[in-house]
Amino acid sequence: MAKIFCVANQKGGVGKTTTTVNLSAGLAKVGQRVLMVDLDPQGNATMGSGVDKRKLELSVYDVLLESASIAEARVRSDRLVEAGCAYDVLGANRDLAGAEVELVDVERRERRLKDAIAKVAGEYDFVLIDCPPSLSMLTLNGLCAAHGVIVPMQCEYFALEGLSDLVNTIKQVHANLNKDLEIIGLLRVMFDPRITLQQQVSDQLKAHFAEKVFNTVIPRNVRLAEAPSYGLPGVAFDANARGSQAYVEFAQEMVERIGSMRTPSVARAA
Ligand code: ATP
Ligand code: MG
Repeated sequence: MAKIFCVANQKGGVGKTTTTVNLSAGLAKVGQRVLMVDLDPQGNATMGSGVDKRKLELSVYDVLLESASIAEARVRSDRLVEAGCAYDVLGANRDLAGAEVELVDVERRERRLKDAIAKVAGEYDFVLIDCPPSLSMLTLNGLCAAHGVIVPMQCEYFALEGLSDLVNTIKQVHANLNKDLEIIGLLRVMFDPRITLQQQVSDQLKAHFAEKVFNTVIPRNVRLAEAPSYGLPGVAFDANARGSQAYVEFAQEMVERIGSMRTPSVARAA
């Protein structure tokens, strides 16, 4: 059964989409079966996975409105198959902006994505959901569907302030809608070790959140920023770039974390 993770941070431009597409490609590269769900009307994760958002016949919008299943709407880019890191994509485009309003009056509106993923969860090891930069009904659908949240953050002064809003939202979702939900970890991204402030914030994060901070650090790397304009994750665009290697390392760390997440329940069952 798939482990389902949201990549979320209501702050804009912190590396959510870069993390979602590169972790998806990294996991695929190490042999995991991955579904990536784009929950952002910007459709950046869709485009960055080699899928043209303007040509989508069915998208996550149709899935949320229950006019299509994920099995019908998912697509896969041939270029990612060629690069050896292919994953399925449930794409998004501007249509999704309307879903927010259209979902207002429907039943189980915050659980639509969860219900849809449940039908295909057996086909994957990981489902990764790219959330928009807001705590909206779309993000809520992501948080309701997930076992855990991956929070990418830049090690800057204001990063910690924004974190408390996200932590409170996650606590509320945990209490009212999804008992499984937890923050799996904070991922330091766009990291530049030459900047003293970044080192300091990184140390503070580790002091405060301990093992909730992933060991892998994603460096600032121009190849990761260039890759989307070629419609590819960095991991596929330039496998040797430092940023790409870091995301493959992060994929391995995630696989190990999942392994250790399973151990306690196995031990209990025995
Ligand atoms: P939004 O909130 O708009 O959805 P986001 O949180 O998804 O944004 P991204 O789109 O992933 O953020 O990244 C923002 C910008 O930073 C992009 O131009 C991206 O290419 C660049 N970027 C992300 N990670 C890195 C990195 N490690 N090194 C260099 N540039 C990066
Ligand atoms: Mg994004």
